[in-house]
Amino acid sequence: MMKPFASSADLTEKSQTLEVLADGVYALTAEGDPNVGAIEGADFLVCFEAMATPAAARTWLARLREHTDKPVRYLVLSHYHAVRVLGASAFEADVIVAHDMTRALVAERGQQDWESEYGRMPRLFEEPASIPGLTHPTATFSDRFTIDLGGDRGDLELRYCGRGHTEGDIVAWLPRQRILFAGDLVEAQAALYTGDAFHREWATGTLDRVAALDAQTLIGGRGAVVHGADVGAAISQTRDFLRVMLTEVAAVQSRGGTLKEAFEIVHTALAPRYGGWPIFEHCLPFDVSRLWDELSGVERPRIWTAERDRQVWAELQG
Ligand SMILES: [Zn+2]
Repeated sequence: MMKPFASSADLTEKSQTLEVLADGVYALTAEGDPNVGAIEGADFLVCFEAMATPAAARTWLARLREHTDKPVRYLVLSHYHAVRVLGASAFEADVIVAHDMTRALVAERGQQDWESEYGRMPRLFEEPASIPGLTHPTATFSDRFTIDLGGDRGDLELRYCGRGHTEGDIVAWLPRQRILFAGDLVEAQAALYTGDAFHREWATGTLDRVAALDAQTLIGGRGAVVHGADVGAAISQTRDFLRVMLTEVAAVQSRGGTLKEAFEIVHTALAPRYGGWPIFEHCLPFDVSRLWDELSGVERPRIWTAERDRQVWAELQG
């Protein structure tokens, strides 16, 4: 029997935890659901990630408002995926910041990604009718974007570390507190979604640049906030997941095997360590499909549509 499509059967509400990581630095984690954060400037807020809908974002903002009533000047989007960006209107931010490629990806495939992600993870789309449309960044950059937090609060550095989870991921780095919001470039005990990824670059130079920041505290895309030695462990886990996939899919291709065989071999190789982590079964068909393309010479990820999602699922998880 076919497994329920993606996360369509995952309807159990996750409990959210708000942590104050340093003076004016907040993270909201949710048992493997997408994480969000906020950083206080002297007289404004920077929010990191927007959630899937304005309704979902308002629940997060209500919790944040128990700590600060400063207005949101900047909303930072780590990448273009719908569950990270479509709640943007709730923040009423002056500026929506993202990478140049994120702006291009929203224009190119934002609509298809919205429909795809809604089908894959319907629980995250609380009150889907509250989404006013696609979220288009209003300020973009290629390498680095520095926000002076004002007063004696120092800088928040937005950095591009190379292609990884998508073509345009960025991280938010507080050098003074050594706190890193890594977006989906690093997951802490959650499976990786690599359906739009550049696996070889992510596993090497991109994660090298993330690790070189030498963060003391890291908030990944999903999973708990990690501190100290656990930061390195989360980065290593992310790299290991990618390397296992790369090794196994390359081996199947070199002996003339099929995509279905590659999926089954990757599943067997990853399941003992990662099979119990959030969204593992959901992600793996899309992950192996994209890696198969990447190693076959398909430069840019093909666009996922609701229809293509179901085809790949039926072929691999069926
Ligand atoms: Zn993502």
